[in-house]
Amino acid sequence: MTERTFVMVKPDGVQRGLIGEIIARFEDRGLKLVGAKLMRIDQALAEEHYAEHTDKPFFEDLTDFITSGPVLAMVWEGQDAIAQVRTMMGATDPAESAPGTIRGDFGLDMGRNVIHGSDTEPGSAEREIELFFDEEELEDYERIDEAWLYE
Ligand code: UDP
Repeated sequence: MTERTFVMVKPDGVQRGLIGEIIARFEDRGLKLVGAKLMRIDQALAEEHYAEHTDKPFFEDLTDFITSGPVLAMVWEGQDAIAQVRTMMGATDPAESAPGTIRGDFGLDMGRNVIHGSDTEPGSAEREIELFFDEEELEDYERIDEAWLYE
């Protein structure tokens, strides 16, 4: 099933110059970039984005971190995009992430795990896309290799 998912290079990934590497992985896989912007998340957006974690002990550190520098917010589209991106990201804790995953290749610490991608709970990706992007900021187009990517 063709899906859209919300992906964000977190402030540590931007500062460490990993934007190109991360985009290349998704492009190479065949996923299609349909929206992207470099932006600063303010406190209100951070709290809304991570609302499910409001009561967690790490919530304040998490919102401080995610607002601490620019992030690259993106929307990627493709077959089973939500789950495929999660697999490519690796586990939440980079220490537990397999080599070959983004967190497993570029992170060591839970609080600096480089990338966010929507989880597979129904409605999560849609909610996050709407939180970060207006409809007119997302592009509908065909990639030239789609006929060779999909049967
Ligand atoms: N996080 C943390 N400590 C924890 C759990 C999570 O700092 O014990 C941070 C981590 O940056 C993670 C984010 O909170 O990416 C959101 O947590 P979630 O469980 O939603 O993981 P994700 O979906 O990012 O893998």
